[in-house]
Amino acid sequence: MKPPRKLHIKSYGCQMNVYDAQRMVDALAGEGFVETAHADVADLVILNTCHIREKASEKVYSELGRLRAAKQEAARNGREMKIAVAGCVAQAEGEEIIRRAPVVDVVVGPQSYHHLPQLLQRATHEGRAIETEFPAEDKFVYLPQPKPDAIRARGISAFVTVQEGCDKFCTFCVVPYTRGTEVSRPVARIVDDVKRLADNGVREITVIGQNVNAYHGEGVDGRSWTLGRLLHRLAEVPGIVRPRYSTSHPSDVDETLIAAHRDLPVLMPFVHLPVQSGSDRILAAMNRKHTVHDYRNVIDRFRAVRQDIAFSSDFIVGFPGETEEDFSATLALVAQIGYAAAYSFKYSPRPGTPAAEIRETVSATDMDERLARLQELIDSQQTAINRAAIGSTIDVLFERAARNAGQIVGRTAYLQPAHVMAPPDIIGQVLPVRIDSLERYSLLGELAPSASAHFSRPESSQITIGA
Ligand code: SAM
Ligand code: SF4
Repeated sequence: MKPPRKLHIKSYGCQMNVYDAQRMVDALAGEGFVETAHADVADLVILNTCHIREKASEKVYSELGRLRAAKQEAARNGREMKIAVAGCVAQAEGEEIIRRAPVVDVVVGPQSYHHLPQLLQRATHEGRAIETEFPAEDKFVYLPQPKPDAIRARGISAFVTVQEGCDKFCTFCVVPYTRGTEVSRPVARIVDDVKRLADNGVREITVIGQNVNAYHGEGVDGRSWTLGRLLHRLAEVPGIVRPRYSTSHPSDVDETLIAAHRDLPVLMPFVHLPVQSGSDRILAAMNRKHTVHDYRNVIDRFRAVRQDIAFSSDFIVGFPGETEEDFSATLALVAQIGYAAAYSFKYSPRPGTPAAEIRETVSATDMDERLARLQELIDSQQTAINRAAIGSTIDVLFERAARNAGQIVGRTAYLQPAHVMAPPDIIGQVLPVRIDSLERYSLLGELAPSASAHFSRPESSQITIGA
């Protein structure tokens, strides 16, 4: 029997890439590859790249520089190392990658991962293989399913891609170009995937998509189903105790999604709903298709059916033309909504997007200063929510042994990490925990007899807007 070949995947960027990396491992398991955590000893290294900001794409080239040395060292030891670039940089730059980094053997776009075995063979025979077209067939139909032991090794929480691509064309964003137009997977296939995960120990699933609430897959009745209907169906899968979804667009929140939060107690009351800016002028320039008023209305509709719901968001500071007044409107919106968490980024011009053509840019100093003020505000909200948990008893889904001996770590409904001293057999269970203290962003506590509701939204008056 041939010894297994070693595969190392390094993923950058979003949850979609985390999921894709696992599917690439599954696709290559059939070719005799097993995963290794060390690039230096690998027979195949895949960089699963992100193109969303300039920093993310440039990281790929510095990593390829390091891999060049590792590949030369492997060759000196009589071993062949292949290097593949996958993900959105592969899709956007194609051949250019090999021109800048001739060490690369395979370039593969996100829609072609089911072709990886053939592309590796082609690279062996022809020296190089590049595939960045959008193939006519659905890669999900051809990608092999993970083996039960692979699912178990990945833990009790899993992502499942249900939708890919985006038709929104926000003026700053490369996603519609790198991931293509919106495509939704059929309900029956998603349900099969989720059942297989649940049968092998998965307790929490997050259905993901670039714009997940634009989901419109074929339902079991042959009609187009919304995300709300899909969530109703997934909540029925035995073993799945915590369904979640991400990332949603404010304009695509429909009544079926609101109804899912009203009707499904298991649907986690935590919604990632990016707004990007609190200024209508900037939202229009971003082509976001919603105003601040629309966004607040959507938040109110969620809160009307479930008071304990919490929100997170994405923000871009320093979009071309953003004034101090626009930025203050963003701070005001954050203060008003009260986020449990949020990601904030400095605007990064992306080649080929309309915003990259706008001349009126914001200085690097202003961007840095605005980002720091926004992050300070978001951080104070997150800390207020974490502090409010102290003294209450909360349900925690336990995931794995923590770094500290004897501790097990899990997550609350709002994805706050929670640590307790307990035996490892609690992994996979949802148990009440009495929260005693806070260490940075982690809650510390002990197992308790029963849970009580704990979420308290920070009042606007408690929040100090950064100076
Ligand atoms: N579909 C999601 C939505 O509409 O909010 C966002 C998906 S995008 C992969 C993740 C986040 O990256 C965005 O919400 C945005 O905040 C950020 N982002 C995208 N393009 C960016 C750019 N050119 N510069 C800075 N941040 C950017
Ligand atoms: Fe990008 Fe999200 Fe806008 Fe689509 S909706 S273009 S993924 S930011």
